[in-house]
Amino acid sequence: MQTQEVDKLLDGDFRYKSFTVNNFEKIPQVIEHLTPEEIEEIKIVSSVLPFKANNYVVDELINWHNFRNDPIFNLTFPNKQMLKSRHYKLISDLYKRSAGKEQIEDAAIKIRHELNPHPAGQSKYNVPLHKGKPVEGIQHKYDHTVLFFPRQGQTCHAYCTFCFRWPQFVKTKDLKFATKDIDNVLEYIRNHNDISDILFTGGDPMVMAGKVIDQYITKIINAKIPHLKNIRFGSKSLAYWPYTFTNKNGEIILGAFKKLIDNGYHVALMAHFNHYKELNTVAVKKSIELIRSCGVVIRAQSPVIRNINDNYEIWAKMWTKEVELGIIPYYMFIIRDTGAQHYFNISLIKAWEIFRDAYQNVTGLARTVRGPSMSCEPGKIHILGVSEIKGEKVIVLRFLQGRNSDWIHKPFFAKYNPNASWIDELEPAFDEERFFYQDELEEIYDIKEMKYLKIEQISKN
Ligand code: SF4
Repeated sequence: MQTQEVDKLLDGDFRYKSFTVNNFEKIPQVIEHLTPEEIEEIKIVSSVLPFKANNYVVDELINWHNFRNDPIFNLTFPNKQMLKSRHYKLISDLYKRSAGKEQIEDAAIKIRHELNPHPAGQSKYNVPLHKGKPVEGIQHKYDHTVLFFPRQGQTCHAYCTFCFRWPQFVKTKDLKFATKDIDNVLEYIRNHNDISDILFTGGDPMVMAGKVIDQYITKIINAKIPHLKNIRFGSKSLAYWPYTFTNKNGEIILGAFKKLIDNGYHVALMAHFNHYKELNTVAVKKSIELIRSCGVVIRAQSPVIRNINDNYEIWAKMWTKEVELGIIPYYMFIIRDTGAQHYFNISLIKAWEIFRDAYQNVTGLARTVRGPSMSCEPGKIHILGVSEIKGEKVIVLRFLQGRNSDWIHKPFFAKYNPNASWIDELEPAFDEERFFYQDELEEIYDIKEMKYLKIEQISKN
């Protein structure tokens, strides 16, 4: 890396500028390369799904000479096919009729509710109860880990067009999770001995000011909860705004990480990289170096996404680059059943083939990665492959995480289905009526629903 470039980075000589539907037409590369029709499409789609890019993504990551095939352009700029045609037509007709903002927003809200805003039962079954009340701004699906949604971290430096947390960014209020009240969260954790991990998530918690991150971290340290061991931060900042860690604010963030480590916590940055192109700039390399130098472990994860990274060579290159930079490849996910899933999904079989071929082409050090995995209602289901048992072709699956931890690591089998792209499109093999976990899952849901019903009745009386 050139010393001058690094010096410039450490001086914090970079100003963040976001581009949204309100100003993207002024981006010089948009003016030069996009047609008026393409600009119109972006406006229409981003009336429904969130759209945000920034000057780093635009200037350093996108190849504008071939932007229609560029993975990072597709990752951040919407296009017509990302809405179903009837939804696109509805909004487009409203624009043609010069409908008012409110009318367009009303139509957008209705469409958003059709797009499965909280997949995998997040709002219904993941919000825990404490002292008879739902705990705001957290999810507790797996025994050991609580997801914490800090209110100040519910945005990202840019938005992924496939985003599975898109409801956090739209105006529809009843679709969001968020809280500032970490004291309540810590009290909940203190009362649950099996929780060892807290995951700050969003949005992107790394959009928060360093001093806010430091305040949250200080509260965690002061709470002295003996069973809370691992502090994780889910973030795409290394890919979308790596200057997060190289400027003055970054010094405070790194100082806060260091404080956790000095107090005996394991700190993990769960980095989100979708393509090896995101790992090549001077800024991302310097940020990775700074984060690692304070003892934080960086683990990388991404979904496999049509039109962005649905090719094994991309994954092999990405995992290889991650290992070279000291990052641990962690997960390949299946794209979730929400938002523009129809545009981005690939079949489970194709995802498994991409994983297998990439895995065969990397060093053993990169084979820390797991997947492909579906984060679905019952848990994280790993697609292990295709096999033939007693003459029947089957898909072999197992839980990596489950609403009941007894399910973890037990293989189970689905009928071979080359087109399925989600668990609800699979059927049990061997003429079984149900998958082994389904009865118990219903019991878990019944118990949760009964508890919620009781709370509703109490609050009505
Ligand atoms: S970084 Fe994560 S939360 Fe943010 S837009 Fe992308 S997928 Fe959504």
